[in-house]
Amino acid sequence: MKKILSISSICERGGDGNYTYDALLYQEILRCSTMHNDKYPEFKTFTVWELTGYLIDHFLPFINEFKELSKRNKSRHNKIASKLERIETKIDNFAKLGLVEQLEPSRASRGSTITNRYQYTESGCLIAWVLESVKSRKKLLAEEQIYNMLDVGAEDNPSSYDLFTSRLYAKYRNRGVFGEFVIDVLCARLEAPKVKIMNMRDLFSNLGILHVTNKERADLYSELWTETMNELDEETKKYVLQHIKLEIEQEMEQQVKYLRGFEELRFQLRDRPNILALEGVCQSCGLPTPIQIETIEYLENTKLLPNDPILVRCRRCNKDASITVPQV
Ligand SMILES: [Zn+2]
Repeated sequence: MKKILSISSICERGGDGNYTYDALLYQEILRCSTMHNDKYPEFKTFTVWELTGYLIDHFLPFINEFKELSKRNKSRHNKIASKLERIETKIDNFAKLGLVEQLEPSRASRGSTITNRYQYTESGCLIAWVLESVKSRKKLLAEEQIYNMLDVGAEDNPSSYDLFTSRLYAKYRNRGVFGEFVIDVLCARLEAPKVKIMNMRDLFSNLGILHVTNKERADLYSELWTETMNELDEETKKYVLQHIKLEIEQEMEQQVKYLRGFEELRFQLRDRPNILALEGVCQSCGLPTPIQIETIEYLENTKLLPNDPILVRCRRCNKDASITVPQV
């Protein structure tokens, strides 16, 4: 069966726990985008031929392959030609995922053939920097790059939610936790996804909502979150809460067992951005049951720490404090 292409393919591991050959190749192709510097100015835009040339020099499995006796004396042209098709497929895949984009066709440097030029999209660069951030010597630079890419403050017309996260990220940065609260989360989603990350939307969903398990971190997160929220005017606050509510409920929908009940409650709460519909399993009657909770209370993460859960009444058997509010 043909594998379904997803962002998760970039960090796919085989049965031995190591990255697959394809994953390593994807990563090396992305890494190229972090090298827009004096040494590699050509990678602002690139042709598949140029990129393949870079990979012949930098991708370890290729380097090793061309050290073999039988291939050692191949010309550079032939080395590139022998890998071209494989790299073309990879670039096609990246284009489908929105990590590179094809530019208007132009003439090749030699001859009259039309050659496609590509460039990395912001999403492509972002993932590349997230992957680079795990290397200690690149960590600070990666943080800076990612922060700037996610900073929508400079944009013309940000949504209320974007405005909120951009202020929140600024606070993270001032307190030195941007790496921990944003990049590490993105990294974990790429490296060890709870669910397959199909696209950029999946990668970024609910990024403003953390599940911190360390009490001190959870308190800091909650403090910065509340502070940012309180700085918004009432109207913006409403829109932000609505956005968060929709994201969480959408996520919840994927997990619920009693869908009809959840749908009913969600519908009842449709015009109340401050209240979330969720589902929990009752410890008394054992049934999955729709529950509601104030969005802010849900987000005050400290209360969701495993040893300090929020308990609510079961609507089915009426027993008090019998359902633990889940972390969606
Ligand atoms: Zn019950």
